[in-house]
Amino acid sequence: MHAKDYVNLEDAYGAHNYHPLDVVIERGEGVWVWDVEGRKYLDCLSAYSALSHGHCHPAIVAALVAQAQKLTLTSRAFRNDQLGLFYQELTALTGYEMALPMNTGAEAVETALKLARKWGYAVKGIPAGQAEIITAQGNFHGRTISIISFSTEPLYHDAFGPFTPGFVTVPYGDAAALAAALTPNTAAVLLEPIQGEAGVIVPPAGYLRAVADLCRRNHVLLLIDEIQTGLGRTGKVLASDHEGVRPDVVILGKALGGGVYPVSAVVADRAILGLFRPGEHGSTFGGNPLAAAAGRAALRVLVEERLVENAAREGEYFQERLAEIPSPHVKEVRGRGLLIGVELHPQAGGARRFCEALQQRGILCKETHEHVIRFAPPLIIDRATIDWAIAPIQDVLNLP
Ligand SMILES: *Cc1c(COP(=O)(O)O)cnc(C)c1O
Repeated sequence: MHAKDYVNLEDAYGAHNYHPLDVVIERGEGVWVWDVEGRKYLDCLSAYSALSHGHCHPAIVAALVAQAQKLTLTSRAFRNDQLGLFYQELTALTGYEMALPMNTGAEAVETALKLARKWGYAVKGIPAGQAEIITAQGNFHGRTISIISFSTEPLYHDAFGPFTPGFVTVPYGDAAALAAALTPNTAAVLLEPIQGEAGVIVPPAGYLRAVADLCRRNHVLLLIDEIQTGLGRTGKVLASDHEGVRPDVVILGKALGGGVYPVSAVVADRAILGLFRPGEHGSTFGGNPLAAAAGRAALRVLVEERLVENAAREGEYFQERLAEIPSPHVKEVRGRGLLIGVELHPQAGGARRFCEALQQRGILCKETHEHVIRFAPPLIIDRATIDWAIAPIQDVLNLP
């Protein structure tokens, strides 16, 4: 079979809810992937940060395979010998007292929303059914009905009502607007520290700090979605660390599974996460031993290979090199660590054609919103590889 045959199969039998580049990948190793025709590419998307450890990291694959041959699933009706250790290691790394495991990012966001509502009623004393949660314009927190209820992207939202009530939207990056939206019924604020899907939107310095102070003064929980930004992507363990903010609830996913298994979690202190009673929330696969073993290996590799430090150092370098590229199309290069967005002028004709041209030159990127190319390679990337990538990127950014 040729690349075209695989593309045709997907298009014939699969729902068209994605618009992928027509590259059919067969194998991956580290920052590199190979297509079915043997062509090699640098992966500059990392599955939206889920592949922070690189493709098929040997230590993570070994942990997954060893666990798969021993015990894969118990359900939470019984206990297993991996979950407690995963809790211990995850809470130690993030500095919280407890964790609750789920599978996908959206499920962890839903978990945080349920937790915030419960806290609002049980602790803050909000009248039953009245809890409000404040979210930001341009947010991306996943695809469930409740989550898309507060999406401001028409494509994600408009066709899918009726919507879940109880959400309020304010402009991103504007702490005064958020302050004005607080009411006695506000249970929580839900934010991304950098809006990845919106086009790598970095809020003004001091924004997260100001929101955290507002939350504390008004007895409102701060829920931070670190699914894309967390676990080293921005050069700190959590992107919230850049402003010395300790959210009440942190939502993790993507890289938590080491690129081999869907693993997500909510972490918080006992006074909050301890509010869930048996039966109020759960997941058949959440916290299964295979997931816990993959998560443990992912955290171990993150620390042992100093991926957070590498993301800080190489991310700064990559961003500098990108910013130096002379190009008639580039409006701005921005980001933090290895989460970098190159925004093109509207007249450039959209980011898609540049991503297709990069593919021809051996670099896989995806357009984010219409005009932004996101560069988010695995955190294991080295200086020599970044240096190699600059020439083809410069080429493409100077296409007519
Ligand atoms: C990817 C992402 C999600 C959703 O995660 P899924 O695993 O796709 O459900 C939520 N929030 C942010 C910030 C994300 O980047």
